[in-house]
Amino acid sequence: MQTLTIEQETNPWEAQAARFDIAATKLNLDDGIMKVLRSPVREITVYIPVGMDDGSIEVFTGYRVQHSIARGPGKGGVRYAPNVSLDEVRALASWMTWKCAVVNIPFGGAKGGIICDPRKMSQGELERMTRRYTAELMEFIGPEKDVPAPDMGTNEQTMAWIMDTYSMHTRQTCTAVVTGKPVNIGGSRGRREATGRGISVVCDEALKHLGMSVEGCRVIVQGFGNVGSNAAAILAAKGYKIIGIAEYDGGLYNANGIDIAALVEHRQQAGTINGFAEAEAVDKEELLTYACEILIPAATENVITSRNTDKLRCRILCEGANGPTTTLADEILADKRIFVVPDILANAGGVTTSYFEWVQDRMGYFWTETEVNQRLDRIMADSFHDVLAYAKAHNVNNRIAAYMLAIDRVAYTTKQRGMYA
Ligand code: GLU
Repeated sequence: MQTLTIEQETNPWEAQAARFDIAATKLNLDDGIMKVLRSPVREITVYIPVGMDDGSIEVFTGYRVQHSIARGPGKGGVRYAPNVSLDEVRALASWMTWKCAVVNIPFGGAKGGIICDPRKMSQGELERMTRRYTAELMEFIGPEKDVPAPDMGTNEQTMAWIMDTYSMHTRQTCTAVVTGKPVNIGGSRGRREATGRGISVVCDEALKHLGMSVEGCRVIVQGFGNVGSNAAAILAAKGYKIIGIAEYDGGLYNANGIDIAALVEHRQQAGTINGFAEAEAVDKEELLTYACEILIPAATENVITSRNTDKLRCRILCEGANGPTTTLADEILADKRIFVVPDILANAGGVTTSYFEWVQDRMGYFWTETEVNQRLDRIMADSFHDVLAYAKAHNVNNRIAAYMLAIDRVAYTTKQRGMYA
């Protein structure tokens, strides 16, 4: 195994590039196209002055990276977190390109981020920061250009502010400029739960593929935000047993299964999962190594690294987060024969229903939740089997197969469109 410092191992852009290089080489991609797909098309940095509640002025740094617009408008979330960096946003933008291509929806890939701590900001401060960020990006975003969505630290309210600011500038209500909006202003039914639902579909398919059953299937979920909490709730409703939940501030374990609805209610009241009476408090890092059938990292990058992969005792690793696993960890996972459902497939349910939202906004005609979910389930199950077929045909692991499938599709379109120079 290579020796890398933990900083090198956990640089998300390097992690993305390493997988890209392996997959592109396997595809025999020519050098020129490889160079084109390796780099983003545009990176925008903005400095956002915000009048804070105490009368002071703060200047926040924000980014929007458009990695590819070959297959359609840029698409991807906006992240508010203290550790946002250009390298991270760049990696997340390229993951969006591959993710949209894996599920074959007509988008490129983009991502945004602002370095801030949303937990410490008031609603007013967040609104002013979001509006100014949107105003700075006016000429770069739009329904046909680049369509933002929620990610860590942002939500439906954030999207409503972006939509409103954009619409004020264009002097007409333009709902299709963002997805993940509230349902009454052009949001799609089922969008909020979509990433979690997509995860449940690929878990179902993985169990079938491996000849395992839902009954008695123990699941540990790391992260209890939009992705983790919805994945846990939907899996529990399907009969999976959620035995552990790890959050940034603590872990919970109950061998008989945790009542997810009760935990959501507890968290709403207490502001944390800690103190939940119906489960044992355990160490959040150690929980990842407890025996289970499915482990779902659904929080952030670099959770599964060369330092803890040896200790994992799951059969399936289903990546709800973007980039939760480092390249070095991939090698150990392969040795341990853990079945990996890679991020760009496992968490693609969110952007797939974002695509449905964009379609519905442009039609001005809205589907029922059942219609949305049926379409989502079909795309997720089909994509799972597309990735597996690639893995088999090329004798590669599921992650490299997903990258190969995606890169193949984007490269094909890029060549077909040709270079404009
Ligand atoms: N932020 C989500 C992701 O990483 C959703 C992106 C979107 O819906 O555009 O996939």
